[in-house]
Amino acid sequence: METEFQIIDVTPRDGLQNEPIIFSLEQKLDLIWHSIEAGVSRIEAASFVNPKKVPQMADPENLLDKLSEKRNASYSGLVLNERGYSRAISSNCDEITFVIVASDEFSLKNQGMTTAESIGYISKLLKNRKTGIKICISIAAAFGCPFAGEVSPSRVLEIADKCLDLNPDEISLADTIGVAVPKDIKEKVKPLILLSSKIPVRLHLHNTRNTAVSNAWTAFELGVRRFDASFGGIGGCPFAPKATGNVAIEDLVYLFEKSGIATGINLDEAIKVANWLQDQVKHPLPSALLAAGDFKT
Ligand code: ZN
Repeated sequence: METEFQIIDVTPRDGLQNEPIIFSLEQKLDLIWHSIEAGVSRIEAASFVNPKKVPQMADPENLLDKLSEKRNASYSGLVLNERGYSRAISSNCDEITFVIVASDEFSLKNQGMTTAESIGYISKLLKNRKTGIKICISIAAAFGCPFAGEVSPSRVLEIADKCLDLNPDEISLADTIGVAVPKDIKEKVKPLILLSSKIPVRLHLHNTRNTAVSNAWTAFELGVRRFDASFGGIGGCPFAPKATGNVAIEDLVYLFEKSGIATGINLDEAIKVANWLQDQVKHPLPSALLAAGDFKT
């Protein structure tokens, strides 16, 4: 079992992509430097998508160039297609995250192909793998789809098995629309840990129905040590109607640190970043710790 605990900050990508206020390069850099100062060491910084579709994600290359001047964190970029992949491998990113959508309905809407076609497509792209760049495959809508409803554990595992054949450095299950409860985590994450063997399992949780923290704890008890989260619980998905924020970094830090598990992140600093972000986006962010603060005895 892995021992290193990681919270991966997805604020600059998943967190911001739905925000109507477009962040400047300087604002994104400020956000990422604040995150690193709080103790984060892995950051999903960018997405290689069409800026016309997701204006918040324009010019990831420039952002990654600026970030690479300070090599104190690992930066990842999200990739959906061939164009995105060729941009990513020529950029300064350290990690690439591919997204496979667990239901055909959502996959067709999001990537214009079925789940199986999408795995085949990524398999072809990965024939041209660049050394030094780590590959994560994330299975989106693994706990439920906004269009197709339930996604069965057997389907998720079948998809995961095909993804593991592509030999990624990490495999992730995403609760894209925030529907999972601990029972689902047990049914899907537990067999995936057995299946993936040495390849680490990562979890991407949204708190749409207030279950993300309990899901994270359940996954931790099963052996998961890598969790995506965002400051303030900001976030959403332009293609998943009504999906709300990622689980908040500060809420996870409180949960784990108070339980005696070192996260590497300073809670006071994390709350400060969430406050700063709330000022930038000019609307309230949903995290519990942002509202209540730390419990100091
Ligand atoms: Zn997400």
